[in-house]
Amino acid sequence: MTTELKSPAERLQKTLKEAHLQGAVLTSAENIRYFSGFTSADGWVFVGAGKIALVTDGRYWAQAQQQCPQVELIKYRSHEHRNLAQCLATWLKEVGFSGEVAVEGQSLSLDGYNSMSTELVEQGPVTRLVSQSALINDLRLIKTPQELAAIGKAAEAADRAWEKTLPIFKAGITEADLCAELEYQMQKCGARKPSFDTIVASGLNGAYPHATVTNKVIQPGELVTVDFGCVVDGWCSDITRTIWVDHLDDKSFEIWQVVKKAHDTALEAARPGLKGCELDKIARDIIEQAGYGEYFSHSLGHGVGLAVHEGPGLRRESQTVLEPGMTVTIEPGIYIPYFGGCRIEDLIYITETGHERLSHAPYQIP
Ligand code: ZN
Ligand code: ZN
Repeated sequence: MTTELKSPAERLQKTLKEAHLQGAVLTSAENIRYFSGFTSADGWVFVGAGKIALVTDGRYWAQAQQQCPQVELIKYRSHEHRNLAQCLATWLKEVGFSGEVAVEGQSLSLDGYNSMSTELVEQGPVTRLVSQSALINDLRLIKTPQELAAIGKAAEAADRAWEKTLPIFKAGITEADLCAELEYQMQKCGARKPSFDTIVASGLNGAYPHATVTNKVIQPGELVTVDFGCVVDGWCSDITRTIWVDHLDDKSFEIWQVVKKAHDTALEAARPGLKGCELDKIARDIIEQAGYGEYFSHSLGHGVGLAVHEGPGLRRESQTVLEPGMTVTIEPGIYIPYFGGCRIEDLIYITETGHERLSHAPYQIP
């Protein structure tokens, strides 16, 4: 699985055949891009035996011709077709398709599903729609060297933006100030956009792992959790640092040290052959032994690629075995209600013998 040189579409065709499915309709931006090369989400991609086609409209025609030379293009016209599904159904009938089709049940809208049911199944050549998000998404788990390089660029942009943002970090600025500067620097450092809504959570706000940025003024001695990432050429990065102004009280510093130890120990252990649950346990045990187990309320990490959150999950129940080429975050945290919180996150990829870090920003302010 690690060194197959087949194109993504060829790998999907093989996977579909093994699952006794005759085709797949891809509707998420990530899978449309991964399997066809088309960088807009305004369209659907159909993959079947010996076939790959993109349905899109006139606004994207020239772009599709340029980005998808290997893909058959089907033009959707609003005055001719009821919807994308009817346009696709017409083409499937023309090419003589029949059979069961996988769809992305996790992300497909209800309207999209209903139109597929009517046009592709009831009035079209498809016998059944089967929700198969994992089957499709798992083909993105192992990154090629080119994909790793692209994710590395996104991680590097985040590192550089962090370095350029730190000089403004002082007591008296707001969370929103810090967020604005960081996002500006991310774009200056090559990011097309942030890979998710940047989190800056200071003091009590740090108790919420996914806090939203507020106008709260950052005070001396508060833990400030900053979670951010870049999108470069469509590929994402993800990193968290928890910093402070002046010095911390003993409890806050202890929390930071426990999280750092859990992070460092799990990072050190990351290697192929380990299950997601085993890596999660390494970090969780350290936090539990320190007495903060109930405050580590999420999983240790997740995959990063065209989506900022994708497989493999490093969760308590994850049986996924780490393989070379997988990218994952290591991000233990402690969140104490009415007190605050801390998270430290790095992005790594699994190598043949261990791992390499993709994020390199310092953990404390130099
Ligand atoms: Zn993050
Ligand atoms: Zn993350």
